[in-house]
Amino acid sequence: MNNRLQHSIDKQKRTRSRGISEDVSSQVLGASQIREQHCGLLLRLIWREKLISRAELARRTGLSRSSISAIVSDLLETGLVSETGTGYSSGGRKPIMLGFDDDAFAIVGVDMGATRIAVAVTDLRAQVKTWRCEFCDVRDEPEKALELMCKLIDDALEEANVEQGRLLGIGVSVPSPVRPDEPTSLSPVFLPKWKGISPVERLEAAYGVPVGMDNDANVGALAEQWWGEGRDGQDLAYIKVATGVGAGLVIHGDIYRGTAGIAGEIGHIPVDATAGRCVCGLDGCLNLRMGTEALVKRVHSLRGEYPNSSLPQRALSISRIVEEAFEGDRLARVVVEEAGHHLATGVAALLSLFNPAKVVFGGSLTRAGELLLRPLRETLVERSPSASLTQSQLVISSLGVEAPTRGAATLLLRAALDDSTLFPLLQAKNTQVTAT
Ligand SMILES: [Zn+2]
Repeated sequence: MNNRLQHSIDKQKRTRSRGISEDVSSQVLGASQIREQHCGLLLRLIWREKLISRAELARRTGLSRSSISAIVSDLLETGLVSETGTGYSSGGRKPIMLGFDDDAFAIVGVDMGATRIAVAVTDLRAQVKTWRCEFCDVRDEPEKALELMCKLIDDALEEANVEQGRLLGIGVSVPSPVRPDEPTSLSPVFLPKWKGISPVERLEAAYGVPVGMDNDANVGALAEQWWGEGRDGQDLAYIKVATGVGAGLVIHGDIYRGTAGIAGEIGHIPVDATAGRCVCGLDGCLNLRMGTEALVKRVHSLRGEYPNSSLPQRALSISRIVEEAFEGDRLARVVVEEAGHHLATGVAALLSLFNPAKVVFGGSLTRAGELLLRPLRETLVERSPSASLTQSQLVISSLGVEAPTRGAATLLLRAALDDSTLFPLLQAKNTQVTAT
């Protein structure tokens, strides 16, 4: 991960762990750091409110009008903020309103799956401008995957007309745990062919911008927290059901990642010792009953009992199983129902351990909606404490197929709103202040 991005994340953690507010901590900082903090504070407020006057900024932050004037003038020069007409006044001159320009910079979000790569160029509210997706054997062909990733990024940036210097950074979602102390590396257990190859380092070298990376379930949870079911601020668990199953946890407003970055790996809870050996080295993991490979195998093993099934013999995908289940295909329905019952084991564990307000399901299989949730609920009733089950809402994500790329872009957006010096032009402004 880019050094400044890592530094910025470390700084946020230190501030949070000490429990000190920005205003109090600024008392022991130098002039440039105070300036940085005030600039970040104003930028976040303008971003959140979308339209706000200088007087209102002063009222909300307690900063002097002259400090606000100087910082706003810098923000206007960077293009992040613009003056957009006048606001309401109960008497006297109408205030000039400041608006945040979501298109001032672009962010690239990359969703690196086990078998495909999707790339989006987004604005500063993670709204997708252009989106690209291609299949590729990501797990076993790292060099090809990186080549394809760069090609998709180049194409998407070109189509979105992103000017030189206007790319804020790149966020990458990966099908691997990411250790907090090794933020640029993938897990050698889950992606052995990627040993010594870091998507973060490659993308930084290719594009010269900050690159952040996190596990796909954590990125999904972040997308829900900012743009989906978690916007109300409640604790949530996001469960991604794709090639494997994993959960991202939002606790007290933060993604909970665990000491080694493997918090929420519910796909590796042992559920059935007869299911064989998992890639993680354990026997009978949930992934061996729930993952894409397992479901395709299950279709083939049950095919004899359902001779009229429309499911194809070859190139069978989860999307096709879901489609046929909706069409009423008995075999497809049985496999989706079984998956729902298996998934309940992982969800029951989460409910008992974390008791989240919401459990949000995303990923290809969850497009089956109630066909998956109904059997899941049936089994959950038998396996989880009734108090946690009745209080937790189970919902399917409404963010759609672009959600992982939006979440990946949000990794960078979050970092830049926490540390405004990640915006290239603001970094220069703050440096000028230090020099004078
Ligand atoms: Zn496992």
